[in-house]
Amino acid sequence: MNKKDYYEILGVSKNATDDEIKKAFRVLAKKYHPDVNKEPGAAEKFKEIGEAYQVLSDKNKRAQYDQFGHAAFENGGGAQGFNMGDIDLDDILSSIFGGGYSRGFDFSDAFGDVFGSRRSSGRKRATRGEDLLMRIKLTFDEAINGCKKDIRVNVTDVCDKCHGAGGFGEAKCSTCNGLGVIKEEQRSLFGVVQTQKTCPNCRGTGRTFREICDECHGEGRITKNKTLTVNIPAGVSNDSQLRLSGKGGAGVNGGENGDLYLEFVVAEHKYFERHDNDIYLEVPITITEAILGCKKEIPTLTGNGYIEIKPGTQNYTKLKLKGKGVKNASSNITGDMYVVLNIIMPTKLTKKQKDLLEELSTTDLANEPEFKDFERALK
Ligand SMILES: [Zn+2]
Ligand SMILES: [Zn+2]
Repeated sequence: MNKKDYYEILGVSKNATDDEIKKAFRVLAKKYHPDVNKEPGAAEKFKEIGEAYQVLSDKNKRAQYDQFGHAAFENGGGAQGFNMGDIDLDDILSSIFGGGYSRGFDFSDAFGDVFGSRRSSGRKRATRGEDLLMRIKLTFDEAINGCKKDIRVNVTDVCDKCHGAGGFGEAKCSTCNGLGVIKEEQRSLFGVVQTQKTCPNCRGTGRTFREICDECHGEGRITKNKTLTVNIPAGVSNDSQLRLSGKGGAGVNGGENGDLYLEFVVAEHKYFERHDNDIYLEVPITITEAILGCKKEIPTLTGNGYIEIKPGTQNYTKLKLKGKGVKNASSNITGDMYVVLNIIMPTKLTKKQKDLLEELSTTDLANEPEFKDFERALK
């Protein structure tokens, strides 16, 4: 492979300054731009110039090139594998022309102001609409069971009056001659610097209207207050997020709509406490229910049910009711329910109750191992 020397391509010396390299590239790029130069080989030449500039304008790549020559950028060559196929002239040109020059920009635009307008179609780029985030308040039950909610959302949408165009009687912008960008020359310490910026008249679209749409003020989109009916699946919580695809802001120039994300603020329940998909319920029981055991009615998420309290149940005993927690439609997981027993000591006793307890206290109730163990603590 017989590649030409990069310095030779740009016609500069090996000691050329960055400014000299940039200037040389600018002159050559204009001369060989395929839109202007129809001679055979011009496009090749243009690419060659871009490649040379890409390397020589980059301090690291230039140093590698000076040391290893073209071998520096061949696969498996001296330095890091830098593949010449990756060259993006858009990037190079944008680094020179700055501002209004962005990726995907038509080359002819960058040089159009020099050679007259060559642009045919507008360069309105399709842009995705913005994503929105909303927080929705739910009751505990709504979150557990799922619900249908009408939510009001302020969202950008295509303007009905101009159908998104922004105005009526479209014509080429006279300020930028349809280019969307205007060139500015500034004198600085480093000489004359040319920059390109987005045309303020047409805001880069290259088109203006005989009449701007008064509904959307030329934006093509307006903010609408919409009411959406949303099906909220069972089991959502403060931690969950629901994505409504395409319900965000309207796309621009044919871009797709953004998404609407819902987050939830779920009210607390007076009795149930939720941990992930499990439900906790504290149930007060009397001393006799704890001592003698009983069947006790309790509320659950799906209506009332019964639990069996064994004789001799200790305070804060936790009972598990498998599958009685939250049925989470999103994760397809069903949680469990935990009943925590809280033995309440009676504080107001009738005479009869007091007598019964006095009698009970004469019997030996301290036969459990805990009592024997505690006696040792007293020695
Ligand atoms: Zn409009
Ligand atoms: Zn303009």
